Amino acid sequence: MQNPQGDIYKTSVGDIYVLPLGHGSVQITWNNKIIQADPYSAVADYAALPKADLILITHEHYDHLDAKAWTVTQKENTDFIASPTAARDLPENTIALSNGESTVWQDVKIDAVPAYNLVHRQPNGKFWHPKGWGNGYVLHFGDFRLYLAGDTENIPEMADVAGADVAFLPKNLPYTMTDEMFVDAARKLKPKVLYPYHYETVDKIKLQSAVGKDIQIK
Ligand code: ZN
Ligand code: ZN
Repeated sequence: MQNPQGDIYKTSVGDIYVLPLGHGSVQITWNNKIIQADPYSAVADYAALPKADLILITHEHYDHLDAKAWTVTQKENTDFIASPTAARDLPENTIALSNGESTVWQDVKIDAVPAYNLVHRQPNGKFWHPKGWGNGYVLHFGDFRLYLAGDTENIPEMADVAGADVAFLPKNLPYTMTDEMFVDAARKLKPKVLYPYHYETVDKIKLQSAVGKDIQIK
């Protein structure tokens, strides 16, 4: 494998490398294994990235479940974990997890957690992300917790992931959070390191001063 790319974090089960690829896409390298979360061909050239050992899909919106991206990044033995409705469009070996369910992949416990809108709706009145439909994921590398929130607002269930070591929170309208919701979510979570993702624009200096210095915005 080429040298792992991304921000390095020490965990009790070895170093992990976290590489935000843009929008909702994140590459995680651990133990010579590659995890691709929500690979999306609009933000990265997956042909030029290492093939995935695990592909995590939060929900089936086109910017998260992108066949052009996952078919390029998969290899012979790639595992898939997805929300139940996204799993229908993925290979047969896909593990479908509903909110509240967990699995263990290569010693990494992975929890599917809620991700939904409280406020923002489509013009037809339905939420962009109804409760129970899509997933966020909490990955446990030993006692190190990495939280990928998925497309969500500042839902109360985030308190269950409080103190996560690394968290990714989405920030764009009308699908996910306003700046105010993002800051509220950050305060609920109090992660050590917080990556805004899934944004069109972001003012990290403003967010950093709003969340306080206990949380490091990356
Ligand atoms: Zn979405
Ligand atoms: Zn999205």
